[in-house]
Formats: sequence, C-alpha cells, structure tokens
Amino acid sequence: MVRSIAILGSTGSIGRNALRVVESLGPGYSICALSANSSVELLAEQARRFKPKYVAITDAGYEDRLAELVAGLDVEVLGGPGSLVEIAELAEVDTVLTAVVGAAGLPAVLAAARKGKRLAIANKEPLVIAGELLLAEAKKGGASILPVDSEHSAIFQAMQAGRPHEVARIILTASGGPFREASAEDIRNVTLEQALAHPTWDMGPKITIDSATMMNKAFEIIEARWLFDVPVEKIEVLIHPESIVHSMVEFVDGSVVAQLGQPDMCLPIQYALTYPRRVAGIARAPRLEEIGRLTFKKPDPQTFRALPLAYQVARAGGTAAVVFNAANEAAVEEFLAGRIKFVNILELVEHCLDKHDVKTHVSLEELLEADGWARKEVSALACSGSVERAAWSE
Ligand code: NDP
Ligand code: MG
Repeated sequence: MVRSIAILGSTGSIGRNALRVVESLGPGYSICALSANSSVELLAEQARRFKPKYVAITDAGYEDRLAELVAGLDVEVLGGPGSLVEIAELAEVDTVLTAVVGAAGLPAVLAAARKGKRLAIANKEPLVIAGELLLAEAKKGGASILPVDSEHSAIFQAMQAGRPHEVARIILTASGGPFREASAEDIRNVTLEQALAHPTWDMGPKITIDSATMMNKAFEIIEARWLFDVPVEKIEVLIHPESIVHSMVEFVDGSVVAQLGQPDMCLPIQYALTYPRRVAGIARAPRLEEIGRLTFKKPDPQTFRALPLAYQVARAGGTAAVVFNAANEAAVEEFLAGRIKFVNILELVEHCLDKHDVKTHVSLEELLEADGWARKEVSALACSGSVERAAWSE
C-alpha cells in the first residue's frame, strides 16, 4: 500500500524536512497535497518536484500568482484559509502531517481527526489549546495521532517499554535555548538576534523565540498531558544542553527508558510516517563516544517563568491554555517586529492570564473568542507602551 500524504505547511522548517524524509523513503510514500501561507515561489517549486494533486495557499492574495506558477502541471490550486481544511479532508489522503505554525492549524487538525486520518502532528498549538476536544474527535473519527515533536516522539517510543498505568513520571528534556545559563536579571536586555541564535536546533522563528523563553517547553508539558493522558504533576522538565536524550519515561519499578538521537527533526518525522515499522532513512545515530558527556539540570523557575505558569494553566483547564497560547503568539509577533522587549513577552502573557476569567467545559467558538480577546489585549498593550508585570505568577 502506498501512503498518500498531505503536508500542511510544507514551506516551513518541519515541512521542508518532511519532504526530504518522504523523498528518502521511496515509492511507498507519495505526496498528494502541499500547503503554504504566502511562500508562493517555494510552494510552486515543491509542486514541480513532488507532483502533488493539490496545492493550497492560505493567503488568498497569492492564489492567482500560484496558479500562474504551476500552469502546465497537473495540479489543482486551492486558496484561502479554508483550503487547509479541504486538503486535510481529501478522501485520497490517508496521512496528514500538520506543520503550520500557531493556532491557525486548529480547524484543519480537527478536520483530519474527524475524517479518521493518520495525524502526524508537529503543530503543537492545537493540542495545547484544544487537546481534550482534539482527542475526543480523533477517538470518534478513528484517527491515530502520531507525535512529531521530538520530545513527544521520544516519550511515545519509550512508552512502548511498559503499560500506561505503570508510568511513574515523564521527564521532558529541554536544550534550555540560548539563555540556559542566564539569570532572571541577565535576560532583561537580550536582543532579537541573541534570542534567535539557538545553540542546537535549527527551527522556524516563532518556535526559536519560544525556546528562548522556554514557552516551547511550557507548551510541551501541556501537549504531553493530553497525548499521554497523564496528570501534569507527573511531568518534569530537565535542561539537557546536548539535545541527545529527547525525553524519558520513568516506570513504577524505577526503570527509566530514554530515546536518544541527533538533534534533527527528520527522525521523529520519519517515525510518525513509518510507525509501527522502523526503516533505514536519512537520520544517523549519535556517536556517544564522540559526545562524551550528557548533562542534566533543573531549570530556574525565576528565569523561565513560562514553566511554573504551564502547570497553573494545565490545572485551570478550559480557556486558560488558549489565552496562554494566543497571548504568547501575539507577543512573539510584537517581539519579532521589534515593538516590544524580550522580557515583555512573559509579562504580556501573565497580564492576559491575570485578567482572564477562565471558563471550563467550553465549545470551539468560546475557545476562539478567548483567543481573539488575548490577541487584542496584547496588541493594545504593545501599542500603548504600558506593558506592566502582572500578579498571575505569584
Ligand atoms: P515555520 O515558521 O518554519 O513554518 C510554518 C509553516 O506554516 C510554513 O509553511 C508557513 O507558510 C505556514 N503558515 C504560516 N502561517 C500560516 C497561517 N496563518 N495559515 C496557514 N499556514 C501558515 O514553522 P516550523 O516548521 O518551525 O514549525 C511548525 C510547527 O511545528 C509549529 O507548531 C512548531 O511549534 C512545531 N515544531 C517545530 C519544530 C522545528 O524543528 N521547527 C520542532 C517541533 C515542533 P509560509 O512559508 O508561506 O509562511
Ligand atoms: Mg520539541
């Protein structure tokens, strides 16, 4: 059987790696659909090379240009935000790799779950903001969820050494980003350039900033909580600067099972596509004798305030996580555009959480409403220049 794959966000860091992986896997895997937001030239180039049946461009302003660029190819062009859902639902697609950035991927991820696809999920934000809903839809639709995030792929692999009720703890590893040795005081004046200089992983700009604040790890705590159905109290974070141990599972008998690999997303992407099989691919195993030392330490909660917040957000449930994510997404955009300082990102997130009345047992509409509120709140504060520290984390 040939696996027919749709890649949502094929022009991004994960998307481009996924295409390399699919190419290396050979004839058992074919590309049926690709999508981008505005990178129209790259999407057209990918269409020429991988010959998908569909290409989708979510920013409708680029649809005509894309049609021009792929004229002569046997491919259907789709445009607008709804086109992501269209390709996620295609009957001829059995595997949907979601690699768009941010909450924009949520409707398409839910659609793929409802249609019972194999959902290889890199786009962590939908799990963070609507994990409960997504898992319920996947169960109803008969979809399987395969994590692509390297830590969750590691946990998924380690989990196979025991049964769910035998898990004592999940230990999420974190590179710690560029500021892992910094104090709360040191990070007050870091520049955009310093925040974008990740020491071990080469990723898109949004997740690179999230690594610098450790918001990425905060999201991964919530992501793990849903993917593996464990209470957050059982999830711990350790800084592991070498990025070789991608995470660990401690079982009740005291065994700790870890997955090791190079810091390269190709392996987790490939495993999500080939599971339950393992095949030779482009990833190379780490040479431990060359690496020599693997080190671990606890992160400082004062420097990385996103971490203690993640536990509070997970315990609060309901709309707390959507506000956590949306406020961060909007604040990171402001930071990337040079309108706010690095420390303001967490201050704005704390402010929004502080001001928000959490609602539980919510519909998708209520989630989206809370999302919209947090984004507006951040942009109003960023424009006014009155970014103040809130009390939520105290
Ligand atoms: P990139 O920014 O590199 O790529 C994002 C992709 O999504 C691009 O194809 C982009 O298109 C598209 N996109 C952007 N905005 C929208 C939108 N509003 N609607 C639809 N599509 C959009 O991100 P990454 O590849 O780094 O990350 C993708 C996801 O994977 C994120 O959720 C991230 O947290 C997660 N992840 C990433 C890892 C990594 O190593 N990069 C590791 C683990 C998880 P265009 O090119 O046109 O802008
Ligand atoms: Mg990760």
